Amino acid sequence: THFGFRTVAEEEKEKLVRGVFSSVASKYDIMNDVMSMGVHRLWKHHLINKLNCGMRPNSNRPLEFLDVAGGTGDIAFGLLDHAYHKFGDNLSKMTVADINPDMLAEGRKRCSSLTSYGNSGRIQFIEQNGEKLDAIESNSKDVYTIAFGIRNFTDIQAGLNTAYRVLKPGGIFACLEFSQVENSALDYIYQAYSFSLLPLMGQLIANDRDSYQYLVESIRRFPKQDVFADMVRKAGFYVPGKGYENLTFGVAAIHIGVKL
Ligand code: SAM
Repeated sequence: THFGFRTVAEEEKEKLVRGVFSSVASKYDIMNDVMSMGVHRLWKHHLINKLNCGMRPNSNRPLEFLDVAGGTGDIAFGLLDHAYHKFGDNLSKMTVADINPDMLAEGRKRCSSLTSYGNSGRIQFIEQNGEKLDAIESNSKDVYTIAFGIRNFTDIQAGLNTAYRVLKPGGIFACLEFSQVENSALDYIYQAYSFSLLPLMGQLIANDRDSYQYLVESIRRFPKQDVFADMVRKAGFYVPGKGYENLTFGVAAIHIGVKL
């Protein structure tokens, strides 16, 4: 609210989101695969390639990455892998911030079992609300990523303003999120799939209909591409071009902003 108090609805949403992700933390990969029919892996890969981050050979300044709502670490590990394979960068550092301790625990576990970053001192996992990021200094990060996280925020604009705050001048903001299918015939099919089939599949595969129902509704309520691009601008970012790239007809979109 204007007075800094949180409404009951805001607190309820935060609790609900916490519950959803605690209950899906260990089945998280299956959930993503169900939600996107496996395509989320390609989208994430595309985001990482598009950003093409890493210390260039003639640079001696490691990058500071921040992956918010980083959950199980997919984007974080992917960005560090890309930096190494493409640029030989084995110095840049990653912070994964997520509001949910169960998701972070899953991320830490995967970090030590699936990657070589576990004992490298290059990656840290911290429990943080992306709307505030209290533990992150202003003007301290080169790259801010958020994948399939921001639609769960109670106050999305606060999250964007915070992204702007923590980035250094010249820093890049990149958001991958479910979005709105722009072709109306395709949207009809997509809506039919998401409203009826997804909760059912959630029930059959993960025995968790309610979490999937929540996810479908949160996608439906998320602002359309143009509206979200305006919110990115409002946070202070320079938004190149129209500000977004649609993936799979707009089922998902990548929004980019630069802090000038
Ligand atoms: N980025 C990961 C990926 O793409 O695989 C995880 C995405 S998962 C669908 C959404 C994540 O957002 C969950 O881990 C959840 O805990 C986190 N989240 C929800 N609200 C948040 C908030 N206000 N601040 C930080 N993280 C939040």
